[in-house]
Amino acid sequence: MNLLDAKLSQYTEPQKAQALGIYPYFRKIESEQSTEVIIDGRRVLMFGSNAYLGLTNHPKLKQAAIEAVEKYGTGCAGSRFLNGTLDSHLALEKRLAEFVGKEDAIIFSTGFQVNLGVVSCLTGREDYIIWDELNHASIIEGMRLSFSQKLKFRHNDMASLEKRLQQCAPEKIKLIVVDGVFSMEGDRANLPEIVRLAKKYNASIMVDEAHSLGILGKNGSGLCNETGTTDNVDLVMGTFSKSFASLGGFVAGNKTVINYLRHHARSYIFSASCTPASTAAANAALDIMINEPERREHLWNLTHYALDRFRSLGFEIGHTTTPIIPLFIRDNEKTFTVTRDAFEEGVFVNPVVAPAVAPTDTLIRFSLMATHTMQQLDEGIDKLYKVFRKNKLL
Ligand code: PMP
Repeated sequence: MNLLDAKLSQYTEPQKAQALGIYPYFRKIESEQSTEVIIDGRRVLMFGSNAYLGLTNHPKLKQAAIEAVEKYGTGCAGSRFLNGTLDSHLALEKRLAEFVGKEDAIIFSTGFQVNLGVVSCLTGREDYIIWDELNHASIIEGMRLSFSQKLKFRHNDMASLEKRLQQCAPEKIKLIVVDGVFSMEGDRANLPEIVRLAKKYNASIMVDEAHSLGILGKNGSGLCNETGTTDNVDLVMGTFSKSFASLGGFVAGNKTVINYLRHHARSYIFSASCTPASTAAANAALDIMINEPERREHLWNLTHYALDRFRSLGFEIGHTTTPIIPLFIRDNEKTFTVTRDAFEEGVFVNPVVAPAVAPTDTLIRFSLMATHTMQQLDEGIDKLYKVFRKNKLL
């Protein structure tokens, strides 16, 4: 065995979980991705999707994607920088910039690539990136590629953020980066206070709106819109892989910063552009966000009902105020067991375990879609209650 294989053969965690029958990953969906899916020939209620508006099977998105393939073909075979820019990319960028209230925007091929490219290229060696400890992995990867000094603050703790800002040399650039809605715990960043501190210390702000677009603010235009902070936030990023029910991502800001990113973000320049079908589906999703507010209203009715019901049944759901509902378990193995038991009861939920979160913060991530019915929601909660009771967690 060569040295690499010898080292990697020591990694047997997945096999151990498989032997225990609690390995929860890579489940094979065999049907359309709706509120119910077929896995291993069985009907399962889906409470693990990020398509919060339930648009994955919407006829208008499908039709838009089909027409884009027919017009442009299947891929772009090149970077936006060179041969990969379509008129549909430019049109969607213009619409997205207007949607989030910024001058300009650029589309990347995934949201991960947005954070990787943007966070890594804006600040220099002596500058600072100041980040919330629960930020998404893609922001952390972007920081790793930056030579700047990185200062972590405690989750949503504004005193901790201020302490970090005080540590910085006043004449150097300070970029505060936060998730708008935190992806695992479902709570909102305190943007008004972040803006106040940023003004006090002359810092810039980037907000990842992956989990807030489509859900919060006017027409679903995000947390910055909801909190009236758009003009004081420098960069807004979003992804198409959640409410937009497609694949891709974007960042919006003023003309100066977007012009810089267009020519410096390496994951934008050195990667093939967003496919015609993905671009068209995201564009159709934007139409629906703007024209079908009843979807968002239903999603919020479901959310308020679910938050009340989980709390009254005794589940520990932290500080969530959104369709992302963490059911804290605080033990890796039990989290896997509950995921397996829930699946056997016909409920798909996602386990979130260490190292994605601290071992004491493991949780089941339960997420809602606007296409769920109240009956489905009740069935999901009833079954999870049964599983939590069986595992002596309630
Ligand atoms: N930011 C956040 C907060 C996310 O949750 C995710 C996806 N999980 C991303 C960025 C990356 O987006 P994408 O799936 O488009 O790569």
